[in-house]
Amino acid sequence: MNDKDQSRELLEDAARFGIRYREDSVDRRVKPSPEAVANVERFIEPLPEAGMPDKAVLSLLDDIGSPATVTMTGPRFFGFVIGGSLPVTVASNWLATAWDQNVVMHEVTPATATLERVAMNWLIELFGLPGESAASFVTGATVANFTALAAARNRVYSDIGWNVEADGLIGAPPVTLLVGEEAHPTLMKSLGLLGFGRGTAIQVPVDGQGRMDVSKLPQIKGPTIVCTQAGNLNTGAFDPVGDICDAVRPHGAWVHVDGAFGLWAAASPRLQHLCAGVQRADSWATDAHKWLNVPYDSGVAIVRDAGALKSAMSITADYLLTETEFRNPSDFTPELSRRARGVDVWAAFKALGRKGVAEMIERCCSNARRFADRLRAAGYVVLNDVVLNQVLVSFGDDATTRAIIAAVQEDGTCWCGATVWQGHTAMRISVCNWSTTTSDVDASLDAILTIAARHTDAPPR
Ligand SMILES: *Cc1c(COP(=O)(O)O)cnc(C)c1O
Repeated sequence: MNDKDQSRELLEDAARFGIRYREDSVDRRVKPSPEAVANVERFIEPLPEAGMPDKAVLSLLDDIGSPATVTMTGPRFFGFVIGGSLPVTVASNWLATAWDQNVVMHEVTPATATLERVAMNWLIELFGLPGESAASFVTGATVANFTALAAARNRVYSDIGWNVEADGLIGAPPVTLLVGEEAHPTLMKSLGLLGFGRGTAIQVPVDGQGRMDVSKLPQIKGPTIVCTQAGNLNTGAFDPVGDICDAVRPHGAWVHVDGAFGLWAAASPRLQHLCAGVQRADSWATDAHKWLNVPYDSGVAIVRDAGALKSAMSITADYLLTETEFRNPSDFTPELSRRARGVDVWAAFKALGRKGVAEMIERCCSNARRFADRLRAAGYVVLNDVVLNQVLVSFGDDATTRAIIAAVQEDGTCWCGATVWQGHTAMRISVCNWSTTTSDVDASLDAILTIAARHTDAPPR
């Protein structure tokens, strides 16, 4: 066999293994067997002196790796808030990996830079954000928050005549940071990475759903950044971003929205009321790898003031947004070299269209309501208003709820995680996978309710 044949066979093996894995993921246990997990120990060895044939490397990955994965991409994984991957996006990802483009400059990556530019414009349009905004494809919402807040930092400092990019924060006048008490922990990390410290933000009290209480916003003066949230990771609730803008923007504050998954409600005519006012903010962070169901790693930062984003991210010390013929992606991202992750976003939009995205989002929300309805009917307490795709259920005291969650994970029909919501332990059901059907929901409910009945006095239904 010549090198070309070997290379083809290898890539065909990868496609075959990948296809088989994804086909199996519809029916397989969500949690891998203890034997499969124990088997990953076989990966642990000293750095090999001599190599091994490529084909054997790939087989080893499939033999040991595939069975030891939690089936996160399957239709009955409801843990965290993560989503799966649309087939077309896995395919586009494979092809774009084969292209191996480094999307630093438009000139040498015309295809991928253009696809990303188109995908960004579509995102901005879908969310109803200002047309003048700039966006960047980053690894996830953590880095999207970081990126957008770097632009915020640039602007609030340049407004008071301080060049934070050149002179840093040591000796700089302080910035007031406001966050909701229920801000995602990664937002604090982003603030820390920006040199603001993880613990310096003023926490604004929230209501029973985790929404910032506008009446509790402190008096604002001087440079201020307000970090709001669209989609609480537990309840799915939205901060009243419009009211917050009304309250703080007259004082010159920058309003940022962490909309990792919640921003996608804007794609649905039925749900977009949840995002009312979000469009008036200054910057937004979201994930494509959650609710758009594209492969990791895929987040997006969007900033109304494109010049501030470019000033914070460009390495050319070009602090003006020059009207060059082409947009160089790396002028807007923390990374220089990176994969063309925006291609998968383009593929998802092209395959689904605006309508298909809306249907996917609405389907997940309707499946979440289906979970909530039957859990309530069985006598269990749903702790949140199910406005989006998140359901928090308590089966009684904390220990009982925890025992039921562990047993549900062990059972393997579906996978749901534990959380603590305002002092109560709850099972969190997050529906964000494109492929989850009502039958998947019903099969998961059957398993959950049977297990719950065993641990409580409730009769099985
Ligand atoms: C998931 C999430 C994040 C972090 O996103 P990553 O993509 O994991 O970096 C931030 N904020 C919210 C509200 C989230 O749900």
